[in-house]
Parts: sequence; structure tokens; C-alpha cells
Amino acid sequence: MAPIPKTQKAIVINEPRGELLYKEIPVPTPENDELLVHIQYSGACHSDLHAWKADWPFQTPFPLIGGHEGAGVVVAKGDAVRNFNIGDRVGIKWVNSTCLDCRFCLQGADGNCPKATYSGFTHDGTFQQYGTVKAAHAARIPDGVDLAMVAPILCAGITVYKALKRSDAKPGDNVVITGAGGGLGSLAVQYAKAMGFRVIGIDSGEAKKKLVLSTGGEAFIDFKTDDIVKGVLAATDGEGAQAVVHVAVSEKAVETSLEYIRPTGTIVLVGLPADAVVHSPVFSHVLRTITIRGSLVGNREDTVEALDFVRRGLVSTPIKIVGMSEIAHVYDLMEKGQIAGRYVLDTSK
Ligand code: NAD
Ligand code: ZN
Repeated sequence: MAPIPKTQKAIVINEPRGELLYKEIPVPTPENDELLVHIQYSGACHSDLHAWKADWPFQTPFPLIGGHEGAGVVVAKGDAVRNFNIGDRVGIKWVNSTCLDCRFCLQGADGNCPKATYSGFTHDGTFQQYGTVKAAHAARIPDGVDLAMVAPILCAGITVYKALKRSDAKPGDNVVITGAGGGLGSLAVQYAKAMGFRVIGIDSGEAKKKLVLSTGGEAFIDFKTDDIVKGVLAATDGEGAQAVVHVAVSEKAVETSLEYIRPTGTIVLVGLPADAVVHSPVFSHVLRTITIRGSLVGNREDTVEALDFVRRGLVSTPIKIVGMSEIAHVYDLMEKGQIAGRYVLDTSK
């Protein structure tokens, strides 16, 4: 294995919407319980774009190294690490570390641990060539799986798999995915099909329609040109969808789903549009007995399960690979909703 360099390339941001600086920075040293990972590929998630824009009601810590869908190889580890060896293939996900000891950790609610750190947000992320991760939270990447293709599973895949589980849908149920042609959505369509659900995708444009219908969607509704409620009712024999997973970055999408959710159904909120609010009239909410719930990434167990769908060939990320230095272009396309599937950054360029 090549020696670990002292410095590396990374994308650094110093302020909200600040320049995405492609620059040389030091290679970090792993703590006692951490791995140092040579990150070869990183997915670019819409959450990274939100963080760059400081969209959320959090104090985004700057300077920021974004990215939380990293795939690479272990090149060094702290003395306390027993579960990984040098040379192992490994993934870095959104939850970089937790205390492993609080009630949330014990219940498998990793993202809710008050001491959790997040890759690309409160812990330097995967838009760099070498990054650190607590070994207990590193994901083991199955043999034979392509590192670039698998990178987006580390956030997008785990998140939609968990959200689908939390939708309480049963095999044969109609499940709507909003944002179905984007990064999370294109994986949600495949996981939903593999889990036995009947998938209706909502997004816009020919490229996304083609992607959704060729990867397991039974129907596609264009949110810009079609009547969404009519479309869902037509695809579900007039009953409505038993579950909806919202990965669209849109408050309106959530509001519209209140009109096509089937009585007893569940609406799962995943997308995080800035300042969005849900207004669900109490009377109809109760009478139709609907559930609206949030879903935050997934835990370590969800990670193992989500990666196993990929190992078995049931799910594969539709990716486009570009150099990490081209991140500004990727954010521009993402902001305009012009990405079908996921862009993956090659950290060597
Ligand atoms: P993306 O930009 O790749 O995809 C979003 C898709 O939504 C696009 O294809 C866009 O065309 C579509 N869209 C926009 N408005 C729509 C509407 N009204 N109806 C239907 N589709 C619409 O983004 P992504 O990387 O897939 O991320 C999606 C969202 O999920 C982001 O807000 C991100 O922050 C969030 N996210 C949440 C979690 C979590 O744990 N809850 C994890 C990861 C990402
Ligand atoms: Zn993400």
C-alpha cells in the first residue's frame, strides 16, 4: 500500500454559499477508536447543498468539509480498533460517531444520540482524500461491489431503505415516492420494488421518467405537467396510496399527498426543504386515520441490511462520475433539479 501523505486535496467552504475551494490541507490523524480512510469516491447529496447554503435551523460550523457518502479503504487505525484491518473496504456515512451508551444508542436511534457527530457537517466529511470515522460506525463494504456505485448507499440508500421500513407498507401495497428521479428517489424506487411494494414515482422530465419506469416504477407522474392527485388515484384503483415517502425538496409535495394518501396510510418525511411546515387538518387527519412521521437516515443495522440489497444485485445506484474539483457544477445542476440519479465525485481529480 502507498505511504500515507502528509497533505491531501479537499473541498473547503469558509462561509454560507462561499466559494467551494479545491485546496491542499493536512491529512488527519485517527483517534484511538477511529479509522483513517483513503476515500476514493464520495456521493454528492442534496444535504451537502443544504449545508453549503446554511438552509437549516442549525449553526452550520465553518470552515466546512462536506460529504457523507464516502467509499474507500482503511489505511490506518487507532490502537483500540478491533473490527477493521488495514486494507478493508469501508464506507463513511452521515452518522460519523455516537456515544454508543445513551438510551437512543441502545434503541438503535443512532441519529438521535445527543453526542452524535455528522460527517460533512460537525465532523470533516468525505469531500477529501483521507477522512476519519469512528470504527463502530464505519460500514463494511461487501466484496465485489463497485466503490463508486456503492458510495451513495451510505446516505441515500440507507435513508430510503429505513424510511420504507418505517412506512409500514406491506408487500403489494401502493407506495408513492416523490423526488423519485433524484439521488434518494432513484434508490427508493429500487428498494421499494425489492421489498415487494408497487411503486408510483413522482418527479419531472423525460430522463427521470425513463429512470423510474426502467428500475421498478409501475407509474410515473410529472409534478410540473400532470394532475398529481388524479394520477395517484388512477394508479391505485381510486383508493389512494398506502404510503408516501417524500424525498422531494418541496413543501408543496407534502401538502398534495394529504389528498391522495389512502385512509389508514402513512406519510414519511425525509426531504428537508428550508423552512417547510406540514398543515394537516385535524378532522380529516383523525377521520382518515393517517400517520405522518419523520425519518432520519438509518442505524448500523439498517446499514448492513441496505448494503446487502446491493450485494445481492437488487439495488444499484445510477451514477455519473466527475472529479471532486467539479463540485460547484454538481451543486448548480442539483439546485435546478437537473440530476437524474446521483453524481459521485472521484477524489483523485
Ligand atoms: P436530489 O436533488 O437528488 O433529488 C430531489 C428530487 O426531487 C429531484 O429529482 C427533483 O426534481 C424532485 N422534486 C422537486 N420538487 C418536487 C415535487 N414538488 N414533487 C416531486 N418531486 C420533486 O436530492 P436528494 O439528494 O435525493 O435529497 C433529497 C432530500 O432528502 C434533501 O432535502 C436532503 O437533504 C434530504 N435527505 C434527508 C435525509 C434524512 O435522513 N431525512 C437523508 C438524506 C437526504
Ligand atoms: Zn445525504
